Amino acid sequence: MTQSMQREIVLLLTWMFIMLVVGLIFDATLVFLLIGLGCYVTWSLYNLNRLIRWLSKPTKQPPEVTGIWDDVYYQLYQIYKRQSKARKKLTSILSRFKKSTRALPYATVVLNELGEIEWFNPAAKLLFQLHSKIDIGQRIDNLIRQPKFSSYLNKKNFDEPVELEIQHKKILISITPFGGGQFLLSARDTTALNKIDEMRRNFISNASHELRTPLTVMSGYVEFLEHKADDKIKEPLDRIQNQITRMNTIIQELIELARLESASEVDHTNEINIIELVEDVYNEILTFDNGTHDIILEMRACTPETIKASLFGNRKEVRMALSNLLTNAIRYTPENGKITLFCELHDNHLSIGVEDSGIGISYEHIPRLTERFYRVDEGRSREQGGTGLGLAIVKHVLDRHNATLYIQSVFGRGSIFRCDFTLVHIETNEKTDNITPIDRSL
Ligand code: ADP
Repeated sequence: MTQSMQREIVLLLTWMFIMLVVGLIFDATLVFLLIGLGCYVTWSLYNLNRLIRWLSKPTKQPPEVTGIWDDVYYQLYQIYKRQSKARKKLTSILSRFKKSTRALPYATVVLNELGEIEWFNPAAKLLFQLHSKIDIGQRIDNLIRQPKFSSYLNKKNFDEPVELEIQHKKILISITPFGGGQFLLSARDTTALNKIDEMRRNFISNASHELRTPLTVMSGYVEFLEHKADDKIKEPLDRIQNQITRMNTIIQELIELARLESASEVDHTNEINIIELVEDVYNEILTFDNGTHDIILEMRACTPETIKASLFGNRKEVRMALSNLLTNAIRYTPENGKITLFCELHDNHLSIGVEDSGIGISYEHIPRLTERFYRVDEGRSREQGGTGLGLAIVKHVLDRHNATLYIQSVFGRGSIFRCDFTLVHIETNEKTDNITPIDRSL
């Protein structure tokens, strides 16, 4: 029991004792005890009423009271002061948040769990033509009326942003869940960025195309001179011819990269015959290697009977990616080393990869291998006819096919480059115009 409660009980007992004594003097004990109790209840009710009045406006200091009521007022006043301090802090955080999001150049919209607008900043007002009075409470997909956006919203997978075209502008929208089921939508205009990117791609592509003609002419002259020249001149001419071939390879790969970057999405209705593709690449690399390495093909659980799902996309691009991986394995594996082209089937995943017993790569280089012109050993790459663009092309092709490249390597022991594709199950047994289940097409 609290001290104030103990004091209050002592006070009440003293008061009742006084009333008892007075009652005994006047020979009316019960009457005086009842009067005493009535006075106490009236006093308590009076204080309770004051308390209710004060609670309706607790800003001013609590009134002067005695007994247990003083303690009640004190405790309530402390709670009120703490709450008002916390409220002030929260209000200032909120106003700072609002000020900063108002100043943000990105459109920001707060959505509730139903996708209804709760708040937006001036940039969002401008971009989506929102009006505070009528649009608060509206579902966002009623205002951004685009099927692509609606399906993005319904899928509820906000790992990647979505790009929309709104009033001839490219808008990149990303959604982040926060709090208890709320969402923060932020959008930015990427029209200018896209334009710069397009200009960069066009520049590389045009420059590469322009360089092709003079190189062909130079190559022709060098060939002509080689026929006429004596042995002393032949060697430098050979070196010039090698450099021209190298430049041609770089140009071709730059053009290929630019094409991959600007090409429209791959046709995901076009089925790739996995086994035929892998065997095709394998045969090509055997011819290219001409017996320098021990190259084997391993179809791990990959047979026409086991493959019940299909790989869709651009056959030429996937073939090029696999060829690049195999060419690298040949380049970076010493003569007679072992190279394995494997095809591995998991539930709805297909891994096609290349394992070699070559020079390997130290772990610090692995994250950067798919950057353009990144080479672990530039001299060695050049010597082997590398351009530093092969893995960048592989990465682009895989991205276009929603596939992932995994690299495992131990320096001095060898490497594994594995491409993981997601297979698509075809439910129907009917043969459609452009979709053929792989187990029947083989
Ligand atoms: P490059 O034309 O130089 O081979 P890539 O983009 O294909 O360019 O590869 C980038 C770098 O990754 C190479 O220069 C090489 O250092 C390293 N690399 C690629 N594949 C292998 C491999 N199988 N074994 C060892 N190193 C490799």
